[in-house]
Amino acid sequence: MAKHLFTPGPVTPPAEVVRAETIPLTSHREPDYSYLLLRLQNRLKDLLDADGPVVLLPSSGTGALETLAVNLLDRGDKVLSVSCGAFGERFREIASRTGAEIVPVDVPVGQAVSPALVRERLEATPGVTALLLTHNETSTGVTNDIGAIVAALPEERPLLLVDAVSSLGAMPCEPQNWGVDALASTTQKGLITPPGVGVVWLSPRGWRRVEEKGSPSYYFDLALHRKYLEKDLPENPYTPPVSLFSALDAALGFLADLGHSVWFDGRRRFARSLCAGAEAMGLVPLVEAPEARSSGVTALMVPDGKGQEMRNIMRALGVEVAGGQGTLRGKIVRVAHYSDTGWPEVAMVLGCLYGAALDLGLEPRTGFIEKAFLEWKAETR
Ligand code: PLP
Repeated sequence: MAKHLFTPGPVTPPAEVVRAETIPLTSHREPDYSYLLLRLQNRLKDLLDADGPVVLLPSSGTGALETLAVNLLDRGDKVLSVSCGAFGERFREIASRTGAEIVPVDVPVGQAVSPALVRERLEATPGVTALLLTHNETSTGVTNDIGAIVAALPEERPLLLVDAVSSLGAMPCEPQNWGVDALASTTQKGLITPPGVGVVWLSPRGWRRVEEKGSPSYYFDLALHRKYLEKDLPENPYTPPVSLFSALDAALGFLADLGHSVWFDGRRRFARSLCAGAEAMGLVPLVEAPEARSSGVTALMVPDGKGQEMRNIMRALGVEVAGGQGTLRGKIVRVAHYSDTGWPEVAMVLGCLYGAALDLGLEPRTGFIEKAFLEWKAETR
């Protein structure tokens, strides 16, 4: 039986991405490799709608977040860390290891961060030098409106560091247009590529901070990575994961050929249709406000703490979904929809959710497939 991955990383990459990972290797010190890097730069800049450079690092998302922390934060800095879930907390912990003083702001589980709250906490906390935000909180399936949060901040504002690990590629993510200073992401979610590459983008203000501060990390020294990228024939300081870079190039080409906005709309359409079907069945989305629901991952509450059992039954039926983290362990299942999927996959996931709910004695209602399909049809693309 085929296994179908609906986890928030890794995801199932398109066939051309898998093929690209197996093309014969080039040396990372020859011109062909520099051309690959140039293409990656251009494609990432298009996706981010921003000027470069975009630094690619051999790491997962956590490594990219740590790269932001060690290059931009220092002992004694006052950092306002706004969290609405497990990954906001992780970013906070990473930042705290630099010796920065952390001022935590916690938003209840399942809710998005409100622009007014961030502004109010910032105004109430003198001396803040950096602000940490999560674009898409994967542990709850909440997407924060970073553009609106930044727009609500005073003009004189701290450095803004954003975790875009589970948003980039799946939804609009425009750090430069929004006024963000540093953004970290990775390949194995919205960028529909296997895991292993960290993505880092900085604003001119972010780069100035990097130059002034210096990096305590030898490997993740952003100024050094930039210096190599700015050569006539760009390079990396250390041996890069060449095959993964080829795969990422194919994935970015796939997204560009389709059109970024068409792809984003497709992810949102999947999320809405899935949610409509699940609700019709009697399952309750963790995120109450529809406008805060993620296009990348949907969290559904499972009654009686049976989340793990539901996951196990779904796995036996051929569909792999994720469970809850921290206080949500056992209470939710998370269905990710980053891959190139459409109505057949919506129907497959809903069918397995129904089977699992029935097996668990949760008395799911029928008629859900019609509700899901009506929602599917209501979206134009
Ligand atoms: N931040 C967010 C929002 C995430 O979703 C994840 C992983 O799921 C991470 C950080 C950590 O990324 P990684 O597991 O690639 O290190």
